[in-house]
Amino acid sequence: MKEKQKGNPVLLAFLLGVILLMVMSAISPCSCGRSRTLAIRTACQSNLHQFDLALSAHCYPPVTNYPPDLSGLSSNDVCPELFVCPGSRNQAGALSNASEWMDYIYTRGLGPDTPAGVPVIICPFHEKDGGFNYLDSDRSTRWVKEPNTVVGMLEDLVQRGYEFHVSERVQRQFGGRIRSSENWGDTSSD
Ligand SMILES: [Zn+2]
Repeated sequence: MKEKQKGNPVLLAFLLGVILLMVMSAISPCSCGRSRTLAIRTACQSNLHQFDLALSAHCYPPVTNYPPDLSGLSSNDVCPELFVCPGSRNQAGALSNASEWMDYIYTRGLGPDTPAGVPVIICPFHEKDGGFNYLDSDRSTRWVKEPNTVVGMLEDLVQRGYEFHVSERVQRQFGGRIRSSENWGDTSSD
């Protein structure tokens, strides 16, 4: 009786291919995921930079302060998509009521003369990436890593007497953890 040969080369090559595919599919989503979150973070910073330019354009004599709401910026300088963080998967709405749906947290009452160290615009949509983006009053966009959090930065703003606006949509999405300064007291009593 003939015995079959052990280790059929075709079968071995096939199995090796299957194993290789399994290993690759286990590795690649990880590295793709990492580069994707980095791309989202960078795209969000680009939005903040655009806002910085629009805020500067808004302050042309005799106007010396930023608008009370980001929706007060000129439609020549901003488009609805700018108000949505690429990491939030939210939809843009009409520019005229952007303050009701926008993703970004906006500190009110600032201007070009505000000293450095005050966050002008904050993005809370990067928790998965372990940090958050913000535009500083020195006009630089910054990435802040945990253990610093958006809530911590807002708490600090409240302590320093600044007012900030969080849209209804963002307040809902963060389960009330992130609120406008006028409702901040409600958060700490939770
Ligand atoms: Zn963002």
